[in-house]
Amino acid sequence: MPRRRDLLAGALIAPNLAAAQAAGEPPAPEQHASIIDLDRCDGCADRALPACVAACREWNRERFPKPEKPLRNYWPQKKFEDFSEHPDRADRLTPYNWLYVEKIELPGKTVYAPRRCMQCFDAPCRKLCPFGAIDRTKEGAVVINPDVCFGGAKCRDACPWEIPQRQAGVGIYLKAAPKFAGGGVMFKCDFCAERLARGEAPACAAACPRDALIFGTLEAMKTKLEEVARGRFVYGRTENGGTATWYVSSVPFAELDSVIRASRQTKAANGRPGFQPETPKLAQSAWLAKATLAAPVAAVAAAVMLRKRKPAEGEGDAS
Ligand code: SF4
Ligand code: SF4
Ligand code: SF4
Repeated sequence: MPRRRDLLAGALIAPNLAAAQAAGEPPAPEQHASIIDLDRCDGCADRALPACVAACREWNRERFPKPEKPLRNYWPQKKFEDFSEHPDRADRLTPYNWLYVEKIELPGKTVYAPRRCMQCFDAPCRKLCPFGAIDRTKEGAVVINPDVCFGGAKCRDACPWEIPQRQAGVGIYLKAAPKFAGGGVMFKCDFCAERLARGEAPACAAACPRDALIFGTLEAMKTKLEEVARGRFVYGRTENGGTATWYVSSVPFAELDSVIRASRQTKAANGRPGFQPETPKLAQSAWLAKATLAAPVAAVAAAVMLRKRKPAEGEGDAS
């Protein structure tokens, strides 16, 4: 567990607002990328759970949230988000399911689309997190620090695909402000950052029986993309300012997107991302101005609350 001073420092260091307005950083030589071939993926229809999903859960199980109960509502939300009663759900992204395979029914054809964090190069979730809880490794993994995240969900608001998922009853907000502005911790795929850092393929890619998920260095993946795309459609190369996840499909992504949208219960992604064409949200000046104004206020408020709060009985100040 981080010490109180470390947690406070985490809140005050953020947000990375100067960087938020800068142009995208050039990729490090270690930057990795991935190709997801929708014409190769068959959804592992013969298995109870797709091999990639099972492998992701197995690899990340220890990091799944273990909420303190009973869960409580908090201001300004009217309810909390809780997936802990259904950790086996595989029909959407959740804090317990970081990879979801969307089944897309088209006339005469079914397409399966594994969905997870796109690992954006200039990730707005990272740039606009008020608490500086999101970092990016030199391999290009966008990683949420669960010890610093307040669960305010600005990352989800900033993400064109609404990828990060919130679980209440865990995280620093319980110590700082259990009834105010927060509400848990955000969870998402982190590109298997630990595995990438030691030169191993992510767990999902290693488990796929059809080589539908390919990982490698950015340069190697650029070459591979030219080889495999061959007149097919590509998604993720330029969206949101460029991402490290490139989908390849013989069906246009606009068509896939319209089917996904029509099958959702609401307009929100609800853990089921679409394939919409996106303008990077960081480039939308009005939206950015609003977000950047709110961010420092939230960070300072959290720091003050942490300072004011007396240590709980038996909980020494680690300073
Ligand atoms: S990506 Fe591979 S492991 Fe995942 S559902 Fe498709 S075929 Fe199965
Ligand atoms: S896909 Fe969303 S959550 Fe993932 S890095 Fe991009 S903005 Fe962040
Ligand atoms: S890269 Fe790792 S965390 Fe992300 S979906 Fe694959 S197995 Fe899960």
